[in-house]
Amino acid sequence: MSQIVYLNGQFLPMEQARVPVLDRGFIFGDGVYEVIPVYSRHPLRVDEHLRRLQQSLDSIRLQNPHTADEWKARIVELVARNNNEDQSVYLHITRGVAPRDHAFPKNTPPTVFMMSNPLVTTTREQCEAGIKVISAPDPRWEHCDIKAIALLPNVLMRQLAVDMGAVETVMFRNGVLTEGAASNIFAVEKGVILAPPKDNHMLPGITYDLVLELAQANSIPVEVGQISEARVRAADELWLTSSTKEIMPIIQMDGQNIGSGQAGPMFRRMYQLYQDYKNEVMRRG
Ligand code: PMP
Repeated sequence: MSQIVYLNGQFLPMEQARVPVLDRGFIFGDGVYEVIPVYSRHPLRVDEHLRRLQQSLDSIRLQNPHTADEWKARIVELVARNNNEDQSVYLHITRGVAPRDHAFPKNTPPTVFMMSNPLVTTTREQCEAGIKVISAPDPRWEHCDIKAIALLPNVLMRQLAVDMGAVETVMFRNGVLTEGAASNIFAVEKGVILAPPKDNHMLPGITYDLVLELAQANSIPVEVGQISEARVRAADELWLTSSTKEIMPIIQMDGQNIGSGQAGPMFRRMYQLYQDYKNEVMRRG
């Protein structure tokens, strides 16, 4: 079965999906997106993802073409039409097709595209090994809270990591932690989870929120606030989170060990809480 995608109201094989070259996503990167993890065909935190989508659309002044229920119906159908039990649904809206002009076009319908890919999560054993990251100054604009499809700085930052044999680039702006190229970053210091604030310098991750909720529900102390680069480097543990990578321990940054240089006890606890939460959501349906 070939991969089925959704384009402007139709479900069709990926090879048949076509977007005109004057689409403003192609010309200007003028659009926003979401990525929703799906476990045993149940989307995780779909309401939260659709709320963030609405915020992104509001920020770029693009009207939402669908209600939350319409989105959910389309997501469920896309998932049903594709093969795997665990999937990652990608949803993308641009300001439509119009002659090239920076100003918004009038009366132009948006382009709506969705695809789903198999979601391959890291096993507990793979997680235990931890990942290596590098760091770099954050080169991005002042609206990193918008989940914009224009991802050139993030692409360049991720490639920097790959070039160095690392998994992710952790970024600092004015001496404080922002996030990874495609992930949020947490630190652990003396049994307290440190999280950077949800401001315009980072994407408000759905996984970030879930980690903080799980911490709160389990009486694990959390401190949300700016974290200096020195504090990040001296942390007992560092974690990376995202919808597709879930939660992973960072064991080295720029070739230097973080803490013991191994997955830490607080990571193990949060990893288990996260897996338990997922299982509960799947059972609930
Ligand atoms: N920051 C950036 C820049 C991202 O691209 C992502 C998602 N890949 C995240 C953070 C994590 O967000 P979420 O937990 O919603 O996947």
